[in-house]
Amino acid sequence: MYRKAVFPGKYIQGVGAIGELPALIKLLGKQGLLLTSPSVHNKVLPHCGIDLSAKAIPVEIFRGECCENELARMSAIVVRKHVDVLVGMGGGKTIDTAKIAADRANIPVIVIPTIASTDAPCSGCAVCYSQDGIFEAVYYQKTNPAAVLVDLEIIAAAPTRFLVAGMGDALSTWFEARSCDRTRSANECGGYSTTVGLHIAKFCYETLLAYGVAGKVANEQHIVTPALDHIVEANILLSGIGFESAGLAAAHAIHNGLTALSETHAFHHGEKVAFGVLAGLQLADASAEESETVFSFCEDVGLPTTLADIGLGKASRKKLMLAAEKTCVPGQSVHHEAGVITPQNVLNAMLAADAIGRARISGRRKHPARELQERGISH
Ligand SMILES: [Zn+2]
Repeated sequence: MYRKAVFPGKYIQGVGAIGELPALIKLLGKQGLLLTSPSVHNKVLPHCGIDLSAKAIPVEIFRGECCENELARMSAIVVRKHVDVLVGMGGGKTIDTAKIAADRANIPVIVIPTIASTDAPCSGCAVCYSQDGIFEAVYYQKTNPAAVLVDLEIIAAAPTRFLVAGMGDALSTWFEARSCDRTRSANECGGYSTTVGLHIAKFCYETLLAYGVAGKVANEQHIVTPALDHIVEANILLSGIGFESAGLAAAHAIHNGLTALSETHAFHHGEKVAFGVLAGLQLADASAEESETVFSFCEDVGLPTTLADIGLGKASRKKLMLAAEKTCVPGQSVHHEAGVITPQNVLNAMLAADAIGRARISGRRKHPARELQERGISH
């Protein structure tokens, strides 16, 4: 196995960046087609100031699921309209449909995320579901997207919960990259991590700590500030390159385990991943100082720190064990962590993270010696 890293062809981010789309399409081909969700079509496109007439850039409305039916429909349109550049604009499923359809047609894809809730836009993989939304397969494209275009005004206008979830996804990047590096495990593009992947992952974490709170506040006001700019880049570009080129470990495996419990389905990917990070730190024997920093960050930006925060406040240990078992299925990235990983260890890590999170909320964050002192017991 070799060291390997993958990147999007171009990454463009800024206020009004959507205006670059016509020139980008021209650069990559002759006939573009924009696939977008109904909500983006109705709320975002009318204000984006580019010519989306059938003669310029025809628009196709996404039918709601990234499934084989929708992919076949897109393939037929691509052939019929002689499309040689496909644009996917919206959330995860719209983007994934455009990625797979473009890959099958051997044409470049331009990705325009309208929310910064995950690090998927820059990646060269996409998830396909059944028509009823049940996971079917992950498809790996021949190359990463030809271009990723991020308009900060569009991201700032979206609900804050998406940005915060994206910070949860981005929070995992450094810890998982570090674990893969320590155990010399494979990254997500089939190689060992490169120095660039590792450094980008670390810088992603540092950016979150420095600008997370201010970025969230800007999003709440729906304004673009330098802090929001930094956080969007961390969520989409730094985390995107970081996870693909440096690897996944406990946090995403615990996320995958948690999806086995229906109570967590109302929560975003990044919200479950954030709890996976906290549990992963308990599993990997992280220092108390590091654990403290990550808990504080999650509390400050409003990411989950307890099982109750992801719908599992009343879940029994037996039920949580189902998630722990799914986390540890062979092939899951939790095995990129050092040491012997068992469902019992993973369950214990989840319970420990939850207990710390609850203790912090109820204000019992005191040093044991101080607690004794306050209770009148001193040495
Ligand atoms: Zn993720």
